[in-house]
Amino acid sequence: MSNRRNFIKTSVLGTLGASTLISCKEESKASAIAPETSVKKGSKPLIISTWNHGLPANEEAWNQLKAGKSSLDAIVAGVGIPEADPKVRSVGYGGFPDREGKVTLDACIMDSNSDCGSVSFLQNIKHPIAVAQRVLENTPHVMLTGEGALQFALEEGFKEENLLTEASEKDWKNWLEKSKYQPVINIENHDTISMLVIDENGDITGGCTTSGAAWKMHGRVGDSPIIGAGLFLDNEVGAAAATGLGEAVIRTAGSAMVVELMRQGKSPNEACKEIVERIYNKHKNHKDMEYLQVGFIAVNKNGEYGGYSLRSGFNYAVYDEENGNRMEDSKFKMTWDN
Ligand code: ASP
Repeated sequence: MSNRRNFIKTSVLGTLGASTLISCKEESKASAIAPETSVKKGSKPLIISTWNHGLPANEEAWNQLKAGKSSLDAIVAGVGIPEADPKVRSVGYGGFPDREGKVTLDACIMDSNSDCGSVSFLQNIKHPIAVAQRVLENTPHVMLTGEGALQFALEEGFKEENLLTEASEKDWKNWLEKSKYQPVINIENHDTISMLVIDENGDITGGCTTSGAAWKMHGRVGDSPIIGAGLFLDNEVGAAAATGLGEAVIRTAGSAMVVELMRQGKSPNEACKEIVERIYNKHKNHKDMEYLQVGFIAVNKNGEYGGYSLRSGFNYAVYDEENGNRMEDSKFKMTWDN
């Protein structure tokens, strides 16, 4: 924990820093009281997205759904809001770069027929989620990466642009002075936006998009573009998506496992909790444990939803007709002091 605190104190991070940390501590207190297995049910349509940037994303996706757009279009437009926002330092334009100062993006999208599209290690395209949708719709493949993904995006009419903002470049140069790589997960530098949607008919879709871990090795791909790890759904059962240390989520096929547990009758909360416990058990003696954070969100076919994280501080935005667009705290296994 002390490393993490020091990192925050001395870190190059700007807008996502101290105030978010304080609010997360307050949220953690609230979360500790709620029973971990409580089942929450929303009306349909229902949208759930990771983190605070889920609120404006949900809002946009909701408006798109209400305007009669498809769920896939709603997801692309919704998560496109944080992708385009330079203040969101973990997604799209303005995202933290890798060790070489390059912003490299991962995204994927999946529909209720189990069709999916994904891009990884994509550079200079502001909306990787929109490219992932084109992979789904216009190619015989599921996943395109790096140069090939960029070439495809250009052929599809996307424009190349520099995604490294002044702020991110400055942060990267500060980081270079020590060049110490230690992923500091949660609100500080890993904040994928994952969004799950149940439409009025009960059909489920999902997507996620991220700039991944700040200061990662050039070429590193996280869980977010990997169907089964960062995102998975089965329209007969439900959907799940992840945020946090992608390596841990990939090692455990996290989102696919959450969906399988829901298939066996677990509620979204219970399923997320069981996979977080599994990740903990696999990593408790691992070098990643000191800074390990993972969080999942999930929905099932009945409109029940939930989330669970390894450590405190994770929250998600939920939107339905009955209760509007709001933030909810995730239950968690442990605080950062453990
Ligand atoms: N899962 C993402 C990755 O590892 C980052 C995050 O959600 O925190 O790339």
